[in-house]
Amino acid sequence: MSLDRYRQKRNFQVSPEPRGAERGAGVLEPKRQFVVQKHRATQLHYDFRLEFKGVLLSWAVPKGPSLDPSVKRLAMRVEDHPLEYGGFEGVIPEGEYGGGTVMVWDQGDWVPEVADVERALEKGDLKFILHGKKLRGSWVLVRTRGYGGGGEGKSWLLIKHRDQYAATGDIVAEKPRSVISRRLLAQIARDGGGNVEKAATGDPETSRPSRGKVPRERLRGRERA
Ligand code: MN
Repeated sequence: MSLDRYRQKRNFQVSPEPRGAERGAGVLEPKRQFVVQKHRATQLHYDFRLEFKGVLLSWAVPKGPSLDPSVKRLAMRVEDHPLEYGGFEGVIPEGEYGGGTVMVWDQGDWVPEVADVERALEKGDLKFILHGKKLRGSWVLVRTRGYGGGGEGKSWLLIKHRDQYAATGDIVAEKPRSVISRRLLAQIARDGGGNVEKAATGDPETSRPSRGKVPRERLRGRERA
C-alpha cells in the first residue's frame, strides 16, 4: 500500500487532483470509505475504490458495476489512490494522466466479509458489503487469469451477490448523476473549464441538452465542426 505510483503518474502543479497526505498504515479508521468515480478519460470507465490501510485500493471498471448477479464486470486493478481522492470531482486537464472529467458517482462505506483483507487480495477473492447510495449489499472482486489482457494479475471481475439489493436493469444508465452534486459529466466539465462535448459523451443520450432541442440542421453542423 503506497502512493508512489500514484504520484509518479501525475503533475500536481497542473492537475487539481490531491497529492495525498502520508498516513501510518496502522491508523484505524472507524469506517472505511468506498467510492465509485465515473471518469470520462480516453475511455469512459468507473473507478471503484475501497479504503484500506490508509489508501484507496483501486480498480477501473470499463462498463461500471451491475446489480445483476449474472453479470460479471471486468475490473482492472490500478495504483492505490490517496484517501482524499474519494472526494474529488472535477476536471483533470487534457494531456495530463487521466485527463478528462471525474464524477463522484457513488460513495459510502464498506465492510469486508473476510477476516483478513490482505490475504483475500493475495488470493484474488475479496468479498465485502457496500453501504452506498446506489450500490448496496454483498459483492465480490475475483482475480482472473489473463482475461482482459491485463497480465500481471491485474484483471479482476466485480460481481454482485444474490441478496435483496440485487436487481436487473442498468444502474449506470438509470442513475447517471453525481451523488455529491447531482450534476452530470457535462455540467461538471462546464463548471471546471473542461471539454464539455467530450464529457457529454459519457452522459446518457436522453439527458444531453442538445437532444430534441437543437434543430436537425444545426446539430449536423455542430457534428461536422
Ligand atoms: Mn480513472
